[in-house]
Amino acid sequence: MFSLPASKAHIWGSRDGCRAWPSMVAACNLEEQPNEEREKGIAAHELAELVIKGRIDKPADKLNSAMGNGVIVDDEMVYSVRVYLEVVFGHIQKADKYGVEEEIPYEGKHVRVDFWAFYEESGILFVADFKYGHRVVEHVNNPTMLVYSDALWKHKDLRSRDYQFAIIQPRAFHKGGPARLWTPTREEYLEEMEAVKIARIECSDPNPVCRTGEHCTTCEARFNCQALGSAAASAVEYAYSNTVQNLPAACLRLELDLLRRAYGIMKQRITGLETQAEALLRSGQQVPGLRLKQKYSREEYTMTNEEIAAMGDTFGIDLRKPLAISTPNQAIKAGFPKEVMAELTTRHPTTMELSNADIDQNEINLIFGVK
Ligand code: SF4
Repeated sequence: MFSLPASKAHIWGSRDGCRAWPSMVAACNLEEQPNEEREKGIAAHELAELVIKGRIDKPADKLNSAMGNGVIVDDEMVYSVRVYLEVVFGHIQKADKYGVEEEIPYEGKHVRVDFWAFYEESGILFVADFKYGHRVVEHVNNPTMLVYSDALWKHKDLRSRDYQFAIIQPRAFHKGGPARLWTPTREEYLEEMEAVKIARIECSDPNPVCRTGEHCTTCEARFNCQALGSAAASAVEYAYSNTVQNLPAACLRLELDLLRRAYGIMKQRITGLETQAEALLRSGQQVPGLRLKQKYSREEYTMTNEEIAAMGDTFGIDLRKPLAISTPNQAIKAGFPKEVMAELTTRHPTTMELSNADIDQNEINLIFGVK
């Protein structure tokens, strides 16, 4: 029997997700590969937990120190954890109950919930998911958080009637900002929860639907997936098929959308094949024309800052940096008044960037030649 981890529910459990994903991954019998970004995420969660549980005062207390998995805490991690903690501490102060990094039994396995808070009087259950990666995770209809809420409801004896879900993702750009809240109505919640339950049943069908989409980007089995291979082949064919150099302006947006989609599918296929080649090379097998090359981090001092500065002095060179101040955004997050900051800052126009705009009916008529 294959597993249906909540952390991967965006692949198997979303409305347009891939129901064949669990069996595909099980069939590939994959060994977990080293993943630098995943390790950084684990370290960021550990850092946040240390502060919430009062073992250190603030994230910066661990700056330049190694976390449990050896990842060194840098400025970016300190900043990201602070953003997450701002949300979490707001709930810790007001909620009747809360939990941090809890393992909760669910469907014969466990789910690990980053943070939850429960308000007895209103019956609101708040669930937060801290994401340290760069890939944008949508907060609305997020199947992973729906599974978390179901697990909490079943195993924590919380008589929740309403739900709030937050994705906190300081390193990914999203128009909604780094902390995004989804507050479904009761009907919306039940409807989406039902969709996840149906997806769970469809995954155990003897012939589950293999459906390509954005979710293939994080599928471990994509190197071995016929459906993705076919979609990528069609994308390659499409990319080669259009030789028109000067498309009419009205068709440019449509053509760009089609090629961007084809590019996304090809990218997923390429990264899938790269993963396969890497796995073979790591296990000691030969892959003609490819090899693994050792990469190195930036050069780092092996002495303390004070010792390095003193060494610089002996050569008559001042290695100390001039005073660095926070960016306007960091200052506002630290509590600097936004209105005062508006008086102190300005924005200079830089380059022009192509972006999608809403298309109105006249433009649709123009594209399809409707008079
Ligand atoms: S690559 Fe995409 S379609 Fe293929 S198994 Fe993975 S999620 Fe499903």
